[in-house]
Amino acid sequence: MKKAALSFPLLCAAAVISLAFPTGSPQVFNYFDGGRKPELEIVKMGGGLYLAKGEWGANVGFFVGDAGVFVIDSKATAGATRKVVKEIRKITAKPITKAAFTHSDSDCFNGYDVYPNTAEIICSLKCRQELAGGYWTFLEMNAPSDIYSLGPTSRAMPYFLPAVSFEGQLNLRFGSETIELFQYGSAHTSGDVVIFFPSRGAAFIGDLVFVHHDPLIQSEKGGYSFGLVRTLSILLKIQPEIRTFIPSHADPIGREELGSILRSIEEIQSKVLAMVDEGKTLDDVTKAFSISGPRIGAGNWVWPSLAVTVFRELTERRIPEKSSAAEGKDR
Ligand SMILES: [Zn+2]
Repeated sequence: MKKAALSFPLLCAAAVISLAFPTGSPQVFNYFDGGRKPELEIVKMGGGLYLAKGEWGANVGFFVGDAGVFVIDSKATAGATRKVVKEIRKITAKPITKAAFTHSDSDCFNGYDVYPNTAEIICSLKCRQELAGGYWTFLEMNAPSDIYSLGPTSRAMPYFLPAVSFEGQLNLRFGSETIELFQYGSAHTSGDVVIFFPSRGAAFIGDLVFVHHDPLIQSEKGGYSFGLVRTLSILLKIQPEIRTFIPSHADPIGREELGSILRSIEEIQSKVLAMVDEGKTLDDVTKAFSISGPRIGAGNWVWPSLAVTVFRELTERRIPEKSSAAEGKDR
């Protein structure tokens, strides 16, 4: 297991849930669902877009176009990703020609080398740097730690390295389809990418959003809650509108739901900011948000409360940029 998987829990001695995000929701899925690995399920989203839910790891998306198959993310293991590819083969004989990744976390990346090595791999420059830095075995949520023991190693790097990586925006033609990729700075990690199909109004947003759950900020990978707010604000302003947002660990959501998640995050940030301004301590914050000790998952994963993350960002790491200054200026 790589270094990050071991060191991250030490960083996050805090609890899971803050006031605005109730616990116990069935919406965080793809690992243990009622104690079991969820079955792979292929959801037809229309217009050639599909979602592969369940199994080990994040949602995988795929688009069957006239230029082949464009996949979004992989599962956490090669075995689970192979099952997705098998399902794709039942739908089309067209080859997988491109694979784009929303970010570098192991649960959405580790199965990537199952895709044909002729497929062009696309990710953000930061994502590529994180992967090259050995951060790809991050455990998330309740994944059992042993599922990662056979994850990618340096053997896979030679054909990963020539990947297309970018910062900002990348517009692709994929046959007759235009696909837009955005990377607006640190949010869940330092290099999250949104993959938008404008003609379908649908965007794959990786771990920028968790439904009924605190957002997860990967501080060790340069994640930043104020950057997350900035990115989500921009996503709501993009034209043509994104109508369907597809997170890695929940069913697709609409604009209203995304807006309310954004407001919940901002509310917590401003409460914590006020407390920091009043000279309050981390203890005061954990009391105010009723945070009671860390929850450690089966993979020794600790999911810190957003309030604690925000407190740390404000006091230990960075000063928040004015999100209003950034909103909407990128497009
Ligand atoms: Zn992630």
